[in-house]
Amino acid sequence: MDLAAIGELLIDFTPSGVSEQGNPLFECNPGGAPANVLAAMTRLGGTGAFIGKVGSDTFGSFLYDILKQNGIDHRGLRFDPKVHTTLAFVHLSRTGDRSFSFYRDPGADRMLTFEEVDQDVIRQAKAFHFGSVSMTHEPSRTATLGAARFARELGKTISYDPNLRPALWNSLEEAREVIIRGMEYADILKISEEELIFLTGQTDLEKGAELLAEVFRGRILLLTLGPNGCFFGMDGKYDRLPTYDKVKTIDTTGAGDAFLGGFLFRIRPYFGRLQELTFDELRDAVNFANAVGSLATTRKGAIPAMPRLEEVMALLEA
Ligand code: ATP
Repeated sequence: MDLAAIGELLIDFTPSGVSEQGNPLFECNPGGAPANVLAAMTRLGGTGAFIGKVGSDTFGSFLYDILKQNGIDHRGLRFDPKVHTTLAFVHLSRTGDRSFSFYRDPGADRMLTFEEVDQDVIRQAKAFHFGSVSMTHEPSRTATLGAARFARELGKTISYDPNLRPALWNSLEEAREVIIRGMEYADILKISEEELIFLTGQTDLEKGAELLAEVFRGRILLLTLGPNGCFFGMDGKYDRLPTYDKVKTIDTTGAGDAFLGGFLFRIRPYFGRLQELTFDELRDAVNFANAVGSLATTRKGAIPAMPRLEEVMALLEA
């Protein structure tokens, strides 16, 4: 198996117009960055498994079906009768900016314990992926960090996308401290410009990347820049690539997860021997990932928007 990912799997209620009575309507969408990354990987033709927790309720069953429909191994999904599946409502401001309100006190996603982590799934995967949403609270913080440590001990290639959601943390100081702790285990770090500023206080990409290198000792840094593509680095050398901005963008939800799933798919032959990847091969994988990310913006939602390999190849060849 290519990739095991641990973390949140939840429902995103996205605004969907108004009812006949004039009340706001919300559409029930599967959400959670680690599951999105896995969906990008399987849609392209790779294989992946999810590790996490939902409630023993209708939403939990819906999310289980989504994993199944997307060919994602769900042995590591736990159902908890004592807590509800986590819910998030997405609000759009008049200017189109997104904000979230989470119903997670506690939600099932943050109740996964280390004992519940299916170690066989990690053993069987060549790479492991995690984020920081599952590290905001215990017991899932220990479960996530423990799983990352276990994957590291087994020599897996480890990818990490902090995906900062300030509203979920008790304090931003704690967020910074725990997010940096996660870097200890990662070979590949994917962050956004906003997260670079949060972590380093720097808006200059190269200066920020150099500051980050003091705490992130892994090999590959991917800094995605939305419609401006990606700034990336390996072993202290940096470069940037534009994305495919001629596509018809309608919804950027999950673009970062599509990008990372695409990147991991492309470097699969190097899982377990990442030190052999050359800078040219890194650039090729970033270009591929840009194509996957940009295609994901042409459809609504995250998981349903992930492109197939043929679509990506057609865009790359166009
Ligand atoms: P999210 O958290 O919403 O998933 P992110 O901040 O992690 O997003 P972005 O930098 O927004 O990730 O996007 C990831 C990649 O997707 C970009 O590097 C780019 O290749 C592609 N992308 C994003 N937005 C656009 C766009 N408007 N047009 C074309 N490509 C885009």
